[in-house]
Amino acid sequence: MKKVAAADIVIFGGGIAGLWLLNRLRASGLSVILFESGALGGGQTHKSQGIIHGGMKYALQGMLTKDAQAVADMPTIWNQCLQGHGEIDLSGVPVLSEQQYLWSPHKFTSKLTGFLAGAALTSRVKALPKDKYPTVFQHSHFKGDVFSLDEIVIDVPSLIRELVKANQDAIFKIEPLCDEELKFDDQGKLVSATVYMSGKSVEVQAQQFIFTAGAGNEIVIRKLKHPDIAMQRRPLHMVLVKAPFDYSLYAHCLGFGPRPRITITTHHTQEGSTIWYLGGQIAEDGVGRDSQTQIKAAREELNSLFPWLNFSDAEFVAFMVDRAEPLQKSGLKPESSFTKIVGNMTIAWPTKLALAPKLAEEIIQQLHAAQLPPQFFDTRELRSWPMPPLARPIWEDMFCKNVA
Ligand SMILES: Cc1cc2nc3c(=O)[nH]c(=O)nc-3n(C[C@H](O)[C@H](O)[C@H](O)COP(=O)(O)OP(=O)(O)OC[C@H]3O[C@@H](n4cnc5c(N)ncnc54)[C@H](O)[C@@H]3O)c2cc1C
Repeated sequence: MKKVAAADIVIFGGGIAGLWLLNRLRASGLSVILFESGALGGGQTHKSQGIIHGGMKYALQGMLTKDAQAVADMPTIWNQCLQGHGEIDLSGVPVLSEQQYLWSPHKFTSKLTGFLAGAALTSRVKALPKDKYPTVFQHSHFKGDVFSLDEIVIDVPSLIRELVKANQDAIFKIEPLCDEELKFDDQGKLVSATVYMSGKSVEVQAQQFIFTAGAGNEIVIRKLKHPDIAMQRRPLHMVLVKAPFDYSLYAHCLGFGPRPRITITTHHTQEGSTIWYLGGQIAEDGVGRDSQTQIKAAREELNSLFPWLNFSDAEFVAFMVDRAEPLQKSGLKPESSFTKIVGNMTIAWPTKLALAPKLAEEIIQQLHAAQLPPQFFDTRELRSWPMPPLARPIWEDMFCKNVA
């Protein structure tokens, strides 16, 4: 006999988008279950640098765009959660840095200095005296300027752990879905999804199915063939550096282009090594390079930006990762999060870790508009199903593999 499980809401995908939403929806009284086909947070989320953007990065590049507006409210929401009195209790998540730094290896151009003077008035960005520079810049060879930016950086592995903590009874591991496992009726409504794990299968029914599966949303998009829903992937070639020193740095190096020349965040392995995680323009430019060439480029960039540091003993790892997002005609970055309801299905991408609260709020508003009363709950058939593992921090994962 067919085994059946039911909940008001079924979410596919346990990255930041699915996990944030799971917490919010359960708090609202709906019954929710989440299925994850890999490790929780193991898609883009555990590869993110943990920066809770407030939009100033875009503004600093002279682009007061919709991007900047969309993320402007996010730091307040995250800070409330991190202090334990927000929409989700994230008081167990360490803040790695209360601020980021913006630096130029040379003196800032007059255009930028003019903008920063304006921005400094808003108290978001502050020019720093030399004795307040991060230690790594307090060196006689450093000839640039440093500004502080009041945007925090959080520990993403702890974030995943805290979002999962209270929901272990609602999260289940499955094998990757195929489109034939989605059963539609004649009106195009998704009647059920059959999920598999270790030779067992359960047909899952819900009032609303929500797909926050990152790149995995592609399966359902192919099936839906909806003119307003398509996905793009924008690759990055990120670099991790196991550094032979313990300078902590959370900083963007400003170049002449629209993106930081390099963005550095600092993390620590369990055995206590310091890791510099490199993103920004170097990760965009590195997409066409193989990993050895990307590592060579990263070494040269670090040697040129920090000539007083010795990277010859540092271990480097480079890896490619796709950002999965709604398709943009320009092929560029989407301006904000994306959510679209088609019948009883929702397809969503946050497009930034920082935008997960906004995405969840938008979905909740849409569900209220659909007036979804709590109704279904029967997960007995899933009782013996395993919970997916939590993703290992990317620096632990990568340094066990290929090191140069
Ligand atoms: C290198 C990098 C650095 C970044 N840094 C930052 C940053 O500092 N700040 C910031 O705000 N944003 C950052 N971002 C963006 C941010 O990480 C992403 O926007 C965000 O993590 C996307 O979350 P998600 O939940 O949509 O997707 P994902 O994290 O990819 O999660 C999707 C999940 O769905 C699962 N899945 C896939 N298919 C299925 C299926 N069929 N059934 C069930 N589960 C499925 C996957 O295994 C995965 O766990 C960064 C992105 C990258 C790539």
